[in-house]
Amino acid sequence: MGADKTWANRIILRQLFKEHYFKDGRRVVESIDDIPKREFAYTAFDLDSIVRHKSFRGPKELQDFLVKNIPSNFYHSSGFYLFPEREMHQKEWMGATLIFDLDADHLHHRGVSPLILNLCEECDEIFESQDPCPQCGKETSKLDWITEKDLGIVKAETKRLLDILEGRLGFEASSMKAYFSGSRGYHIHVEDEELKELGQEERNEIVDYLMMVGYSLRHERDPKKGTFAHLLKVARGENVPNGLDKEEKKALLRLTKKLAGLAPNEIVSSLNAELPKALASKVEEYVRRAEMVGVDPVVTTDIHRLIRAPYSLHNKTGLTKQKVEDIDSFDPFADAVGISSEPIEIFVRYAPRMIFKSDEYGPYRASRVRLPGYVAAYLLARGVAYAE
Ligand SMILES: [Zn+2]
Repeated sequence: MGADKTWANRIILRQLFKEHYFKDGRRVVESIDDIPKREFAYTAFDLDSIVRHKSFRGPKELQDFLVKNIPSNFYHSSGFYLFPEREMHQKEWMGATLIFDLDADHLHHRGVSPLILNLCEECDEIFESQDPCPQCGKETSKLDWITEKDLGIVKAETKRLLDILEGRLGFEASSMKAYFSGSRGYHIHVEDEELKELGQEERNEIVDYLMMVGYSLRHERDPKKGTFAHLLKVARGENVPNGLDKEEKKALLRLTKKLAGLAPNEIVSSLNAELPKALASKVEEYVRRAEMVGVDPVVTTDIHRLIRAPYSLHNKTGLTKQKVEDIDSFDPFADAVGISSEPIEIFVRYAPRMIFKSDEYGPYRASRVRLPGYVAAYLLARGVAYAE
């Protein structure tokens, strides 16, 4: 896409974001507790890099900033500081909101498989899953297109996490706020005075627990556990771990036949006794991945993390980071729409079929279309359309 065209796109997006911050800037401000102790950061449509170490004395100053500067991305720190505007080593950390991030990128093992779009700058064309460019043979740049199905998988994982945090780790349901991230996943912010004080070590332990770091087949004895049930399925030949070679598959099958008919506890203990070491570790990894929660470990353990601010807009989608009230019925492509429906005419290079607010759009190829503002913004932000 030529420089003039990306410039025009940015001008339109900035205008749409401006309307959002005028209308809903107050919601951003109201969703952030302890504003004077947080570090803020942002990018803007007319800046090349991120600006960090901003601080605001209170809600009014923050709201004025949003309306005046129209960030293209807006973040606050998980941390609370005595001097949030200073350099990192001089901030004086006082605590941090405990945050979990579930992102499509970490959930390929659950079946996330974004559509791959290939952009050829030479021909100014976009193709689905074709590299090099079928027209000129040049290498293309890739863009993953997250689908409703992918986001559904991330949502299911978010539900599992909420259940585990409440049921097994004893977090108060009322302290956990779930948000759609605005693009590829969900965040959970745990707002709890005691948990704020957890250091990096303790946050590491929570992540290790969720990701089942150190899980060992040899300790598998409790039939009530999910891992036990998974292992039993492997022992009965109902599930076959991925990544096994031919010989390993045969060995597992032989063992499966031998153990058939035994009681569950005996099956699992015999499996453990008889699996060759290399095969055992593959089975172990398979069971672990099936049962762990696929959080992004860095987001939870980094006590200085910057996280997108609730109700702010994401520059790659034009969607908001949206609070999830009822996770079962939550639909990002309806509930996280923050841009107005006022129609805009754009030129779409290519877009797969999409659903926004129960209405279907596309697929489009090289066509001039008049679309609701939020659909146009999505395509402009994704880089597959031009403002006219
Ligand atoms: Zn080409």
